[in-house]
Amino acid sequence: MPAHSPARQPLAGQHPPDPRGGAVRVAAVDATALAEADPARSGGSAAAVLRAVLDHGPLARATIGQATGLSSAAVSRQTSDLISLGLLRDLPGTQQAAPRAGRPHVPVDVDTASHLACGVHIAVPMLTFGLVDLRGRVVAQEEVDHDGDPAHVLALISRYLPDFVRRRQGAYSDASYRASATAGGGGAARPGGGGLLGVGVVSGGLVDARGGAILEHAPLGWRDVPIAAPLRAATGLPVHVEGHARALAQAEILFGDPRARHGLVHLFAGHVVDAAIALEGTVLRGQRSAAGGVAHLRIPGATEQCACGGRGCAQATLSERVWLARAVAEGVIPRPDIRLLAAAVAAREPAALALVRARLRLIGRLAALLIDMIDPEVLVVTELATLQWPELIADVHAEVAAHSRARSAPERVVRPSSFGPGVLAVAAAAGILAAVHRSPRSVRAPLARTLPSQGTGAGPGRAVTARPSRGTLPATAAGR
Ligand SMILES: [Zn+2]
Repeated sequence: MPAHSPARQPLAGQHPPDPRGGAVRVAAVDATALAEADPARSGGSAAAVLRAVLDHGPLARATIGQATGLSSAAVSRQTSDLISLGLLRDLPGTQQAAPRAGRPHVPVDVDTASHLACGVHIAVPMLTFGLVDLRGRVVAQEEVDHDGDPAHVLALISRYLPDFVRRRQGAYSDASYRASATAGGGGAARPGGGGLLGVGVVSGGLVDARGGAILEHAPLGWRDVPIAAPLRAATGLPVHVEGHARALAQAEILFGDPRARHGLVHLFAGHVVDAAIALEGTVLRGQRSAAGGVAHLRIPGATEQCACGGRGCAQATLSERVWLARAVAEGVIPRPDIRLLAAAVAAREPAALALVRARLRLIGRLAALLIDMIDPEVLVVTELATLQWPELIADVHAEVAAHSRARSAPERVVRPSSFGPGVLAVAAAAGILAAVHRSPRSVRAPLARTLPSQGTGAGPGRAVTARPSRGTLPATAAGR
């Protein structure tokens, strides 16, 4: 059954605004744009203009023409359409600098105030809710514990999401309006901005993006759990479901190192160890949505017993479970809680750093294998320690240099995640944002509407600092 049938998609704005002021602003992306929300690839002239500004902006219209090869008339038309859709904006205070028609020298930038995507990351034992702007920046993030029962988790998401969006959307549009006013310009940020484009849901395990379902998630004990259809029914919003590893890769392709669009290996090491491979902007899925399964590749020199019967598998060697047990045994933390280890790493406690650096060395050996197999332009590592201290990636570089046959300069190829502690929220929203960047005209005009809400009964979850300074506790860094 096609998961993203446009006919079944509720129309944005079909409900009137809540007179009590509880409306969520929705600017839903058209469902057809979600149908293949995978590659950040060409979607016509509008997408080319938006992508040029995303990559290099702010840009003058004349420079956009050079970057895209479009005529000045075409750039002018596309730019003005993208501005009216709330995807680009003229930079404040620059309008008077260009008297000529088409304003070729007026810079435009991505409008980060008019639209937001919501991301929900399902993990053990918690959900992460995030609001992410069109540049892939997390503007709000909260965590909520769950009990692992699939029906309860879906009900929790359905209840919590509207309240989260309403609460955070209001704060965001007020703040961005104040920032714009302070900057002295007639910028696009305004009260009522932050229209919601849709909801991206991401989890580990085997995920059928097309069918909108989680096929298998061993740590949660889930099999064949439909996600997209019930959430669409409950919230009335477009929903895109994706596997954790592929979503992380998609986020890097959209907002990370531009070389990732040509050839990317994304390696994730959390509770689970998995990878995603993308070539020319397309993330490989495989026949069973299982491409990128590296859990049972053997890490050279490792001897840990694996549940599969083998020894030295990546999953058995690198899983956070193993390293938490080790941290407890060595007295680094009192109990096996990833948040405690994250805090110890954030505080640069020497024993904790020694542990995570030893793990990074082993991750480096796996990275070396993948580099030799795939020969990517860039290999991104997402794991606990480098989300907080990116310079620790040097340990991975050292092992790649020692073990890879293909590369003499691993520091050019291997890098930490582009997103720091906000990585899970960005990944969860990436499917929605990819659809917008690929098909900008799929965005509808913002309308206020009321999302179904029975109240969460649980109050706000744990707020997570979206752009934390060093030393804050990124509990979500423990994503898996
Ligand atoms: Zn194994």
